[in-house]
Amino acid sequence: MQFKDIVGQRDVINRLTEIIDSGRVSHAQMVLGDERDGSLALALAYLQYLCCEHRMHHAEGDLRADSCGECPSCKKVSQLMHPDLHLVFPNATTERVKSNPSCADFEGEFREFILAHKGLGTLEQWYDHLGVDNKQGMIRESDAAQIVRTLGMKAYEGGWRMLVIWRPSRMNASAANELLKTLEEPMPQTLILLVDDSLEELLPTIRSRVQVVRMKTGNGNRKTEGSEEFAPMLVGWLRMLFKLKMKELSAQVDKMAAMGREQQKQFLSYTLDVMRDCFLQTTAGLPCRIESGDEKFDAMFPNMVTVNNIDLINDALNDALFAIGRNAYGKIAFMELSFRISKALKKR
Ligand SMILES: [Zn+2]
Repeated sequence: MQFKDIVGQRDVINRLTEIIDSGRVSHAQMVLGDERDGSLALALAYLQYLCCEHRMHHAEGDLRADSCGECPSCKKVSQLMHPDLHLVFPNATTERVKSNPSCADFEGEFREFILAHKGLGTLEQWYDHLGVDNKQGMIRESDAAQIVRTLGMKAYEGGWRMLVIWRPSRMNASAANELLKTLEEPMPQTLILLVDDSLEELLPTIRSRVQVVRMKTGNGNRKTEGSEEFAPMLVGWLRMLFKLKMKELSAQVDKMAAMGREQQKQFLSYTLDVMRDCFLQTTAGLPCRIESGDEKFDAMFPNMVTVNNIDLINDALNDALFAIGRNAYGKIAFMELSFRISKALKKR
């Protein structure tokens, strides 16, 4: 994982590389952010940069520096095969592991999961991957004891010892207590990175011992061009297409028709992008967020776009794009589009 693969976090990344370059890395840090914004990816890119043998510094562009991605250390970290990189994550009993589950039982699966989702997989997707229920996932005392043992040993490669604890809020109290000693007594050349999306569920004793790296939220790796501008309009419009109250819809269509032609085209392209993302979420489990600010809508809507209606939706949008490109009357084009999409959504 390199920093350049993480979208929308330039300031956070530049601050991190500055600190790493200056050698003032604090031994326990917490990357605070949603996986879909790249929190776990950022933690892994951080470690790759830390170990990289040929850090690259850029005079131009967004990022001041990045790992090279080519040296042996980079390769080992990016494949999650570095012998001094340890991963701790919530786990549970499964078909295969029927009792006393621990991270050690799922190392291979977890690596696979991270690589398959390019570090953007969510906790829910991980539980799906394991085939377990959300409530069961936990980091147990045995996992914490293993961490303490591992960090007590010498680094295999003589460099940094690195530990990523994904979702420390899933640690039970005894696990947290076990880990606390390690957080309290920094060891040389050892970095512990905690990754979670909220501080609230984290035990205060842990929270007070980590330095927090706060990510920018809601604009991460699936941000579509134009989303701030068009999202509220798109969401308002889609809501109407479920109910089809003509008076409201007509007013909405008026608003769309009042935009300039270029804006209308941008809005339609944006809508195409969003629909594609929704479809990818339903079929491939790729993270997608419309980011309307209305959580209920954002959680529900992607499920409406399926293999049964994606072609209809795409055709309708492309026809509207074509019509508007040919100077069609905006009001008619958007009204017709509304009916076609409304019909398509019912076919899911
Ligand atoms: Zn490198």
